[in-house]
Parts: sequence; structure tokens; C-alpha cells
Amino acid sequence: MIPYGRQDITEEDEQAVIAVLRSDFLTQGPQVPAFEGAIAQYVNAKHAIAVNSATSALHIACMALNLGKGDVLWTVPNSFVASANVGLYCGATVDFVDITPDTYVMCPDKLEAKLKKANTEGKLPKVIVPVHFAGQSCDMRRIGSLAVRYGIKVIEDASHAIGARYLGALVGNCAYSDIAVFSFHPVKIITTAEGGMATTQNAELAHRMELSRSHGVTRDADLMQNESEGGWYYEQVAFGYNYRMTELQAALGLSQMSRLDQFVARRNALAQRYDLLLQGLDVKTPAQASDSYSSYHLYPIQVDDRARVFAELRENGIGVNVHYIPIHRQPFYAAMGFHKGDFPVAENYYDNAISIPLYAGLSDADQDTVIEKLGHATRG
Ligand SMILES: *Cc1c(COP(=O)(O)O)cnc(C)c1O
Repeated sequence: MIPYGRQDITEEDEQAVIAVLRSDFLTQGPQVPAFEGAIAQYVNAKHAIAVNSATSALHIACMALNLGKGDVLWTVPNSFVASANVGLYCGATVDFVDITPDTYVMCPDKLEAKLKKANTEGKLPKVIVPVHFAGQSCDMRRIGSLAVRYGIKVIEDASHAIGARYLGALVGNCAYSDIAVFSFHPVKIITTAEGGMATTQNAELAHRMELSRSHGVTRDADLMQNESEGGWYYEQVAFGYNYRMTELQAALGLSQMSRLDQFVARRNALAQRYDLLLQGLDVKTPAQASDSYSSYHLYPIQVDDRARVFAELRENGIGVNVHYIPIHRQPFYAAMGFHKGDFPVAENYYDNAISIPLYAGLSDADQDTVIEKLGHATRG
């Protein structure tokens, strides 16, 4: 089976993890701060906070922005359920903004119209979570300026987009947002098995996220409310969870980072090959905005008769997948009052969507096999 995505692990990666296993610290040692520093420097953010998943990163980001009961979070239907669930974690309610019909990310026109209406009704969201779907940045300049105009906060769900660029700069620099979040799940661009990272330029937000990822506990005397009682002393000064990343994960992440640009370049080369070689087939390839350099986490195409094409490809050893079932169509969200037809662009996109294999280790020969089988399947 040629999978739709998979990790790339070298002997250097293995050695990095083994070295940690033989060291003094399996958690809360030097690797996590080193990985955080490397990511912060790479994306040009002042702060990076490593956690055990992107979902946790989204959660602590929402907490840092004081999202709570009575508040509203907006994201897009075309994402993994975590982008919406984190609003519920905080006791907020969730709503959605439909996507563009060509790049499948949050539509700024729809966002603007929805904000205008919400403002007149006194129902503005506190936080919006645009998702850089497939590795392509949203129109952050417009989203950011709308957020400033309406006084709302922005968390970029950049789970797909480490190594991607927007207006020439790396995603994660938070030029038009408060916080950005990356995922290091094995199908994403680089991996720590499970893992995530939040980046921000804001020291106060970074501090709040650091506290909430580790029980709300601090050992920093400057942050304590009482006098230290001795070398053992710590204080819980905020509400928090245990969302820490392990040293093994951080060592793997650091080792993977040395190949990040290579991974993204290879994904782009493969995507360009798909763009070219799929031209003769009856499929719609994903559009790219001119201001964006995608990290190409996914290569989502549109096909007629999707269910049959999907089944035939799976039967022929092509591990295709579908990204995403619109979140508002999940039974759990439907029970909150969402209906079919609420976000028609995301629904129409979903009806014909297939993600075909794309990962750094995909060979040209295997890609040719994918194209050949896809050609057969789409000719019916
Ligand atoms: C993978 C993913 C997440 C969740 O990432 P985890 O690290 O698995 O928690 C969130 N949002 C999007 C868009 C994702 O693709």
C-alpha cells in the first residue's frame, strides 16, 4: 500500500532518541527548550511552547486568550475536529466560517460578512481559528485586519504548515495573529510521534501557555505570590494541565528539523509533478494563491463519483484518504443545531474530495503508479 502520508525517519533520528534514553532526563530536561528555541528561531517568533499535541497547543492558546463560558470561537468546517473541539474544552460555543471554493481555506469575504452581522447582534466571537489547510496559508493580512477592526483574537491552526510561507515569511511568525500552532503527528511535515508547538510574539501569552501546559505550577520566584520556603518550593498560580512534551519527542523533533526545508522542497516538487501529470485526467487539482508557498501536507483533488474512485484506489494499493468531513456534519456538532447546507462550499468540496499520496519519501516511481491508478479509476 502506498499511504497518503508517512513519516521519514533516519538513523540520525534514531540515534537522537537513543541518546536521550541513555541520558539523565526523559522529561523536563534540555531537549524541549532546545527544540522550542530551534522552532522559534526558524519561524522568527520570540516564543515557542512545546506540548504533547497540536490539540493541546490549541487548547492552551485558547486558555491564554481567556476563552471561556459565554464566549464564542469560530473556525472552518473543513478541518480536523480538534480545531473546533478546543473551543468546547474552554466552555465556549463554536461556530464556523465557510471556505473559498478554490483554496479551501477560511473565506475572508464570508468572515467579513459574518463579523458585520455578529457585531450588530452583539455576538462577536472572542477567538477565530483559521486553518492553513493542506499547508497553504489563509489570507492572513485580511483576516488579521478584520480581527483588529472587530477586536477579536486569532489563533492560526498551522498544523499542516510548518515550513510554509506567506508573503515570503515563514508561517508561525504571527505577523497577523496572536498565536500559531503546529502539529508533529507522523503524517504532518515533521514528527515527534505525538506533539505540538505554539508560537507567539507576545511574552504574556507565552507565559500563560507555559503555566497551563504544566499544572499551572511555577518554580520561578518572580512569579510566586508568597516568599519561597526553600529549594523544594513551588506554587500553583494558575489553572493547568499536564500537556508536556517528553525529551524523547523533542530530540526527535530537533533531529527532524535539520531536514524540514528538504521535506517541504520535496513535497513541492511532487505537487508540481501532480499538477503537470494530472492535467490530462478528469480531476480538479488544488489552486495555489500567489502570495503563498505551501508546505503541501496534503494534495487534495476533486473527482466525480468519489466513493467509487476511492474504493477502486484503495483496492489497488493506493492509500487515499479524505480531508475533511465538514465538522458541522459530525453527529456531535449536528446535535448543537448545525444542519446540512449551513456551509455549502465546504460541503460541496467534501463531496468530491480525495487526498492522494504525498510525503517526502514518496518516489517518482510510486507517484507514477498513483497517477496511473487514478487515471484508470477516474475513467470509470
Ligand atoms: C493534525 C491536526 C490537528 C491536531 O493535531 P494533533 O497533534 O494530532 O493533536 C489539529 N488541526 C489540524 C488542522 C490538524 O490537521
